[in-house]
Amino acid sequence: MKKSLYIKLSLAYVTFGVLSFLFIAFFALRMTYSYLVRNEAESLYAEATLISNTYSQSAGNSLSEQTVHDEMQAVATFLHADIWVVDSSGKIISDARDTHKDTVIPEFEPMDTGNKLYEVSNYHGMFEAPVLTVSAPVMRNYVTSGYVLIHGSMDQLYDEENHILTIIYISALVIFLLSLIILVVFYFIVYRPLKKVTIAATKYAAGDYQYKIKTKSQDEMGYLAETLNFMSDEISKADDYQKQFIANVSHDFRSPLTSIKGYLEAILDGTIPPELEDKYLMRLISETERLTKLTQSMLSLGSLDKKGFLSRTNFDVNRMIRDVCASFEMTCQKKEMTFELTFAEKQEMVYADYAKIQQVLYNLIDNALKFSNPKTSVAVRTGLRGNKVFVSVKDTGIGIPKKDLPKIWDRFYKADQSRGKDKHGTGLGLAIVKSIITAHGENIDCISTEGAGTEFVFTLPKAYYPDQDNTSS
Ligand code: ATP
Ligand code: MG
Repeated sequence: MKKSLYIKLSLAYVTFGVLSFLFIAFFALRMTYSYLVRNEAESLYAEATLISNTYSQSAGNSLSEQTVHDEMQAVATFLHADIWVVDSSGKIISDARDTHKDTVIPEFEPMDTGNKLYEVSNYHGMFEAPVLTVSAPVMRNYVTSGYVLIHGSMDQLYDEENHILTIIYISALVIFLLSLIILVVFYFIVYRPLKKVTIAATKYAAGDYQYKIKTKSQDEMGYLAETLNFMSDEISKADDYQKQFIANVSHDFRSPLTSIKGYLEAILDGTIPPELEDKYLMRLISETERLTKLTQSMLSLGSLDKKGFLSRTNFDVNRMIRDVCASFEMTCQKKEMTFELTFAEKQEMVYADYAKIQQVLYNLIDNALKFSNPKTSVAVRTGLRGNKVFVSVKDTGIGIPKKDLPKIWDRFYKADQSRGKDKHGTGLGLAIVKSIITAHGENIDCISTEGAGTEFVFTLPKAYYPDQDNTSS
């Protein structure tokens, strides 16, 4: 089963909480305990040293010894501790509470012989509960004659330790709960938008490109959602275009094939009498020509899709225009149409792919003649603007509806009205024109008014002569 990001983060959060509490339970507990014991031991040791000094000075003086005993009693009451003075053999010679006086401490060993400054124990089994014991030597004539031992109660120390630990635990709990805010923020700022994005990605993978991610966040998540929405729109458009493309291709191939089949069957079964066969065979040829043109146009578009296909040369575009116009002589005669050629210069040298630009001009002029009323004229102009040569093909024909203008460059696109006018058109002409001009790194524009006419203007790079560059520099 896939674990969600949120569950993973929650688990990490709980682990963090548990580890923090374990840390406090083990390390903080030990550290607090040893700090408190050491602190207490130091203050008990200071008292023990004071008593041992007073005791040394009172040596042999019974009055003074009584005073010292009283002082020990006062201190013992104040500290809740037992205070003994023992001789070197471990016999208790003075006890503040007078309960252990003259008792010999079993296996007595002075504490200053080792590194130990204090010890927590039952002190040779002499106390029921553990006590904190410190010892200070009693010096007489520069010789250690005994020790002052103070056994502090551990109860107070444990109380203090519990108090400090309670404070630490409560603080840790509050910090832990406060850090819940991070989890909540993560949920709203990262997890929820991310979940929406994940759902959207799943929908897109299943082909539902209409699905939109609704998010108001202005951060990277919002940007990601917007980008995905844009991507789905684009894929959706490409998908529609692909479907339209296939529908158009199949339609344009099917209609000539259906009529060819129909004519052939009619000839074979005698529906078409032998004397009319020639007429219908001519129609068959025209249909097969249409299929050939369709195939050629698609091949041409296919090759244009590949990069690096241009073979550029310098040539006179004005001359090319004259030649292309001349090739339409028959069409012009049939429709009683004329060309108006206006060239700014006699020669207009451009640097482009000769055959491809010829195809562009052929397609544009073909359209201009096809979609014009008889007895009108088509104007072709050229001129120089900066380092670009512009070519314009303008007619006074049926024009293109404003809503259709952006679509004319699409493959297989034909305006409804032109479908009636030109049944043989493939709708690939302008798609080819656009690909060729774009491949040259140039632009083509269409200005059209329905019922008034259409003008196509495209640019070409001015002729390029590397030798001249060398001589001029
Ligand atoms: P083909 O070029 O294969 O003969 P076509 O001319 O129909 O087919 P395009 O040249 O791509 O295809 O043109 C697409 C459509 O744009 C045309 O069907 C027509 O509706 C519209 N169009 C193009 N040129 C003109 C024009 N000069 N006047 C009016 N409409 C035009
Ligand atoms: Mg055309």
